[in-house]
Amino acid sequence: MSKRTLVTGGAGFIGSHLCERLLDDGHEVLCVDNFFTGTRANIAHLLANPSFEVMRHDVCFPLYVEVDEIYNLACPASPVHYQHDPVQTTKTSVHGAINMLGLAKRLRAKILQASTSEVYGDPAVHPQTEDYAGNVNINGPRACYDEGKRCAETLFFDYHRQHNLSIKVARIFNTYGPRMHPNDGRVVSNFVVQALKGEPITVFGEGNQTRSFCYVSDLVEALVALMNTANEVTGPINLGNPHEITIKQLAEHVVALTNSGSKIDWHPLPQDDPTRRCPDISLAKSKLGWQPTVQLEDGLKETVAYFRDLV
Ligand code: NAD
Ligand code: UDP
Repeated sequence: MSKRTLVTGGAGFIGSHLCERLLDDGHEVLCVDNFFTGTRANIAHLLANPSFEVMRHDVCFPLYVEVDEIYNLACPASPVHYQHDPVQTTKTSVHGAINMLGLAKRLRAKILQASTSEVYGDPAVHPQTEDYAGNVNINGPRACYDEGKRCAETLFFDYHRQHNLSIKVARIFNTYGPRMHPNDGRVVSNFVVQALKGEPITVFGEGNQTRSFCYVSDLVEALVALMNTANEVTGPINLGNPHEITIKQLAEHVVALTNSGSKIDWHPLPQDDPTRRCPDISLAKSKLGWQPTVQLEDGLKETVAYFRDLV
């Protein structure tokens, strides 16, 4: 059945792929974005579709529209961007959640929150399971994002308990792919752009910290599957690819894939940079019947092809 779907942050990296997927599934899509990190270019190919609508709006302010489902993705995701204006980042997460939950409550709409593996901070449990409460520095430079997202989760569960709202909380782990912003500052886009330009690859710390990278099509599949679960399934639920590698290995991989002459340039490790990160996705496997299918090598090839056209 065709639904009217709101995607906040729909002009961003993940949001634009999600809008595309929902349109392909035959839904009407309202993309709401303030274009802080998202771009018109990300959604330009969707504008001619009569089922697609774009609205410039900041989710920190109330929104009055009529929809059946809400995907709340609005929030800068790159540490460089979310630390640029930390107060605004917390406002986006917290006021944004309150406004979108208020909208969902009025409409009795299902609402999905794009939460994050950052709620685990620098985790002492590995791989991370959903019942782990995390290890977040309350007042460090990443706190605006981490605590903002944690508070948003709290709000989601309170609206669920207090107002019987149908909620879905996705804890998204590092996701990559085409339409990441070239100046986004995140590791995959940085390394690919640097390698393609023949510039030094900026590895922070000794490069022994790990991440587990999920290709964007896999992630979008999981978000849609989660939205379509029965009311009892609220999450939080980890969504990511459990293939864990070090940042140094990622750098070497990207250099090899691009046939680049770039050398590694070592930089200090940013404060509170998590040492290890890898999702336990048992819950996603059992509740959604989902697991990622795109190998890192294949996803990186697609990403390299995208940035090759761009730079
Ligand atoms: P992105 O920066 O590309 O997209 C975020 C979008 O939100 C942008 O289009 C931006 O302009 C918009 N936005 C920001 N503040 C807004 C506001 N106040 N009002 C309206 N729009 C606003 O990032 P992304 O990687 O696509 O991330 C999307 C969501 O997924 C975010 O909520 C992020 O926290 C979450 N997430 C992403 C990852 C990842 O690895 N990509 C990991 C964990 C969580
Ligand atoms: N990183 C790096 N070089 C860069 C950008 C990031 O070595 O140019 C490292 C960063 O310190 C972190 C990892 O790569 O350990 C992932 O960083 P990213 O900003 O992509 O996301 P995070 O998972 O830290 O939110």
